[in-house]
Amino acid sequence: MSVGAIVVHGGAGWRESAARLPDAVAACEAAARDGQRILLSGGSALDAVERAVCLLEDAPVLNAGRGSCTTTDGDIEMDALIMDGATLALGAVAGITRVLHPIRVARHVLIDGRHALLSGEGASRFADSIGVPRCDPSELIVGERSAAPGDTVGAVAVDMHGNLAVAASTGGIPGKRPGRVGDTPLVGCGAYANATATVAATGAGEATMKLVLSKHVADLIGDGAEPQAACGAGIALFQRHFDAPAGLIALDAAGNIGVSFSSAAMPYAHAVGESEISSGARSS
Ligand code: ASP
Repeated sequence: MSVGAIVVHGGAGWRESAARLPDAVAACEAAARDGQRILLSGGSALDAVERAVCLLEDAPVLNAGRGSCTTTDGDIEMDALIMDGATLALGAVAGITRVLHPIRVARHVLIDGRHALLSGEGASRFADSIGVPRCDPSELIVGERSAAPGDTVGAVAVDMHGNLAVAASTGGIPGKRPGRVGDTPLVGCGAYANATATVAATGAGEATMKLVLSKHVADLIGDGAEPQAACGAGIALFQRHFDAPAGLIALDAAGNIGVSFSSAAMPYAHAVGESEISSGARSS
């Protein structure tokens, strides 16, 4: 049993002085609050992370769903993943276009169970088949968004039964080539959950995937590390190999929290049991 806990982030692509940072923190707080509500009413960790990421996808200030960055062709191609730590059930989409909530489509890939990852036009056609409405690309593109850094979103949660889950969603990195897939929909890279740990990563996907970073951090927690120490070790590993910012959030089955990042700022919010939402964006 657990009291339930949720942690969400709004990406490690932030400059400390960014005028939009308070809006990003507010979006994280709202997402954590909704996830907490689900957990307190006995809902599953999987439902909590899906709901939290849906809200973050709605926030135009963040690079996921509405507000996603664009490819060099000016299009929006999005990646998302959701994973149930209790069963290792997994659903992911890569390069999906013209949907407001890629994480919902990923959840349906998980429910369908036949495949783990659908890409491109096939992912969009799967969305059609389950009745997810297509949107116009103009609904996803927000102002100067295409010039902004990657502000991927992610959520990790543990429910009252001690089950863990993760969800993550992104527009990728600005100016990416059409067809580029980042770490976010790659299991163990941008996100991972099992019976002992749940982890979400943010930062340049080309780097994160080479370290299979989320699985690495989950294994440290599985071996007994506190989530905070494990996230710190994950960021240190990343920094030893790459000169780029990264961020990690994590939970263990007891609801212990990890938040670590090497970027100037990373908006995040968390709640344990009935606690008030704690949030921030800068290293203390
Ligand atoms: N990891 C994301 C990607 O490379 C970007 C980010 O986290 O900001 O697609």
